[in-house]
Amino acid sequence: MRNILLILFCLMLCCAPTARAEENTLYVKAVENLPEDFIFGMDVSSVTALEKAGVRYRDSAGTERDLFELLKENGVGWIRVRVWVNPYDDEGHGFGGGNNDLATAVEIGKRASAAGQRLLVDFHYSDFWADPGKQMTPRAWEGMNIDEKAEALYQYTAESLTELKNAGADVGMVQIGNETNGKLCGENDWQDIAALMAAGAKAVREIMPDALVCVHFTNPENGDAMRSWANELTSRSLDYDVFATSYYPYWHGTLDNLTRVLSDVREMTGKAVMVAETSYAWTLEDGDFSGNTIGEGGSYEHPWAFSVQGQANAVRDVTDAVVQAGGIGVFYWEGAWVPTGGSTWEENHKLWEEYGTGWASSYAGSYDPDDAGKYYGGCACDNQAMFDFEAKALDSLSVFRLMREGQEAAVVPTAVKDASVNVLLGNALHLPNTVDAVMTDNSHTAISVAWDQASIDRVDIGREGKYTVSGTAAGMPVRCTVTVSARNYLRNAGFESPDTSWRATDLGKTAQLYREEKAVDSKEGKAHWHFYSAPANSVRFTLEQDVKNVPAGTYTYTISVMGGDCGAQTVYSYVLINGTEAARCDTSFTKWNEWHTAVIDDIAVADGDAVTVGLYVECAGPGAWGKIDEASFK
Ligand code: CA
Repeated sequence: MRNILLILFCLMLCCAPTARAEENTLYVKAVENLPEDFIFGMDVSSVTALEKAGVRYRDSAGTERDLFELLKENGVGWIRVRVWVNPYDDEGHGFGGGNNDLATAVEIGKRASAAGQRLLVDFHYSDFWADPGKQMTPRAWEGMNIDEKAEALYQYTAESLTELKNAGADVGMVQIGNETNGKLCGENDWQDIAALMAAGAKAVREIMPDALVCVHFTNPENGDAMRSWANELTSRSLDYDVFATSYYPYWHGTLDNLTRVLSDVREMTGKAVMVAETSYAWTLEDGDFSGNTIGEGGSYEHPWAFSVQGQANAVRDVTDAVVQAGGIGVFYWEGAWVPTGGSTWEENHKLWEEYGTGWASSYAGSYDPDDAGKYYGGCACDNQAMFDFEAKALDSLSVFRLMREGQEAAVVPTAVKDASVNVLLGNALHLPNTVDAVMTDNSHTAISVAWDQASIDRVDIGREGKYTVSGTAAGMPVRCTVTVSARNYLRNAGFESPDTSWRATDLGKTAQLYREEKAVDSKEGKAHWHFYSAPANSVRFTLEQDVKNVPAGTYTYTISVMGGDCGAQTVYSYVLINGTEAARCDTSFTKWNEWHTAVIDDIAVADGDAVTVGLYVECAGPGAWGKIDEASFK
């Protein structure tokens, strides 16, 4: 009997539901010299639209929670909310992006206040998104001269802040414009921009004398521009307290540069500095059938792994950079913008249109026909939220509280990098034994990998082609791209190394003729051959290579070109056998990113033949330019 009871007891234990959250094993190094009053904030502007559409937030244990309380528990003491003047069309359809009008800001302000959080009110002074690309005037202010517009902006700011105050929102900071890189509210002259900002600042001082006035720019990678904007404000004695920038690590330069630029601005202006927007992807997957700005195969920097740990590392390291600059805070952008739900694009689309939970609804086209009108859709950053696609908190959310004391958990792999190998036709395939792992502390280690035999078997080393072998390392999937190709008798065939295999001969007035390292202009890899003519001059040159050690046989020669502004042109590839042209193939330069490959096949080579391959380029221009890449003689 006792044994039976014991067995029953054990069964009950085994079958008990595991409501307990899994242990948070996030590795977080404490940020040194982190001030007690350092601001950790999050922009959650889309939250009310998402909740109306049915989204329910859960903590890491899976329990449904109030978003604001959950953020507060995790060290997020401030909430940022954007405000558009009138994000609705004439029939009352919302433009999307959260439909963030003042009423939405009031609701978010009240919720934040109830959770004990302060509010940063982010006035875009537009009816929809304002950023360096667009600073469109609200429709109600169209046609006003600058004095009338400043007065309208002042009245609008004062009335909005009064409503927020009356609703009990604890507004600690007010942003007078969003990413105002030399433009604001349809104006692009600094005298006018500063006049509008001054009107906004005046309203803040009058209605909320204790709130900080914040100006906001972006592109800190361009430090000179940022310093010049700071000077524009100083020279016009703008009354403000905080100079903020966006910092998206994919495009906005290094952390060292961020620290330097913010330090410079702080010293030049005597104002506080901070990061008003940052974020980092925890996965490259998309959660709502609407493509993300950060996805597979893009061309952008990614200093941390795309994992939950990598996202936490990004926030921690950005914070460290801001603290080193003497900054006052970091706001994470749209950390709760998750997919609205639905298992098809159609289901999601319906919700984006009805509740405004996508970045733009089709209705926004009436105000912004060139961008929203063409590309309206869902969320482009659902993989940068700090919640998974089902709105459950990721462990990375705890980074805000953990940065104070640190949590130096055991260092383990958090992501593995894909590998690649090249195999000569008919040769044996050797796959790497290890792959590069990104560790939880952002260091790198080679770890062993197990390749999947079935996918190895699919590689045909007897046929040219690209194959993907899948495997597992530290429990994570990893791929190895296998390229099977015949021997290429050309050296430095992709121009990747700065050697002297290629010989360029200028026959005219080609202003620039050299090997260039620029991945976006290369067919493959990071380098190619480049030419450019000064506007008035024409281009005429040859690019050649003597092919060494070619056994007798039949070969194919290929070379690829891309360029533009070439005007009348004569362009062809050619093969010289013992100094005599044996064959040629015409090609041309058309436009950027449109590559053309000249192919000459059936090239007969006898023992002892001297073989030279080349490309002849003659362009009338003006301004002819082009790139040459990826040659082969096989
Ligand atoms: Ca998406």
